[in-house]
Amino acid sequence: MKREAELQGLRDEVSRVTKEIISLIAERNDVARKIGHIKTEGSLPIEDEGVEDTLLKEVLADCERAGVDREVGNKIFNILVSESKRIQGQNTIQPVLVTPMTIASKAMELQRKGKRLVRLDIGEPNFEPPRAVLEACSKALFDLRTRYSETRGIPELIEGLIRHLKKRHGYDAKARETIVTPGGRYAVYTALASILKEGDRCIVIEPNWPAYKEGIQFIGARPTTIHTTLEEGWEPHVETVKESIRSNTKAIVLSYPVNPTGKIIDPRVFSDLVALANDYGLTVISDEIYTDYAYKSCASILESKANRFILTSSFSKTWAMTGFRVGYAVSSEDVISKMMKMQSLMITCVPEFVQFGALKAIESEAEIRRNSQAMKERIEAASKELDKIGGLEYYKPDGAMYVFPRAKRAGFDSSTFAMKLLEEKNVTLAPGSGFGDYNNCFRISLGQSKETIIEGIRAIGELIS
Ligand code: PMP
Repeated sequence: MKREAELQGLRDEVSRVTKEIISLIAERNDVARKIGHIKTEGSLPIEDEGVEDTLLKEVLADCERAGVDREVGNKIFNILVSESKRIQGQNTIQPVLVTPMTIASKAMELQRKGKRLVRLDIGEPNFEPPRAVLEACSKALFDLRTRYSETRGIPELIEGLIRHLKKRHGYDAKARETIVTPGGRYAVYTALASILKEGDRCIVIEPNWPAYKEGIQFIGARPTTIHTTLEEGWEPHVETVKESIRSNTKAIVLSYPVNPTGKIIDPRVFSDLVALANDYGLTVISDEIYTDYAYKSCASILESKANRFILTSSFSKTWAMTGFRVGYAVSSEDVISKMMKMQSLMITCVPEFVQFGALKAIESEAEIRRNSQAMKERIEAASKELDKIGGLEYYKPDGAMYVFPRAKRAGFDSSTFAMKLLEEKNVTLAPGSGFGDYNNCFRISLGQSKETIIEGIRAIGELIS
């Protein structure tokens, strides 16, 4: 009886404290609203990382003193901060963006109606996959390799990847440190999800492929973006990256050659960034999907001194196997087992017959050379054509399969331009706003033939001037 009364008393106490927390949140929201009004009136940014980080440090110190788990403190802090931002953001009008998907779906709709378009928006090489890949896939299909297989990937492909990485980078990957994924995109997402928790920060150098930022946000973590400029050849400053590191920064994404700029950083800058990551205990996620379209020395994380890293790559671009949905990742056993857990939960395995095709791709070295040479020629041809357009400036790509020009005209809006280009010239491209704060730029994909690229760029030139 006494026990029961005591328990009831404690439950009442818990209920009182919980309600108190809620009314404190309401009080905090009121203050946030006032801050929001002041920021809107003064056109000040909603986010102030410095202020946030100072408060987070104080909160974590309080956690320590009060015996509250730091992770719990971190989580609650992040909930409070995102709630403040939501409240403050209610005062600002969000611009409606034309995303690459808007352009792509409009283009597909027109194509379905029989319209001929020059598609320079999608990042998909138009080469044929190697014959050997098609044959291996169909043989595997007719051999009825059509059932569930290992979540990690079939041992034949894992062994093939290990041989490939040894030959390419002199790196000894272990089978337990390797995973076959349904494409590079999935590898990137599960890599992020395996190391980031809600509220953690991850550094992304922009302009860059939007899926890094979106993946980070989807997990509930937060991207710290580093802005680079065309004037500086899209070069990141190691010092700026260092200054952006906060107490909850857990990782940095490196992805050279870059989609959309084609930038490759100097291997020394790459190793400085890796050293920085080591100093702060960050994981480097290195997306090396365009490594076979690199026309100057491009460092690989597998040849670096990174303490913690996740390499992600794919068969999509090198061998033009986008629709096969097959990629891979290499990391520590611990990280790979987390990625495997997600893979087993969500997809069970990558189709086995596709993996037999991928195994043949690794051996298709002649196609790597052929595709790489063709892409180099496309970069040359596109650059020559762009040089004729007075209203544009651009960085000549060191690799990848895109050019990212900038309009010289003030007030240029990449989304409006992309729509107009589609409607008036039947040419598509990806607006720069999708790759970061680059609304005066746009991405031209070099996935199509040289002739098509030239035709598209000429149309761009006509509309720009
Ligand atoms: N990383 C980068 C930088 C990319 O540009 C892409 C495709 N656009 C991917 C990864 C993913 O490609 P996939 O999922 O087809 O392997």
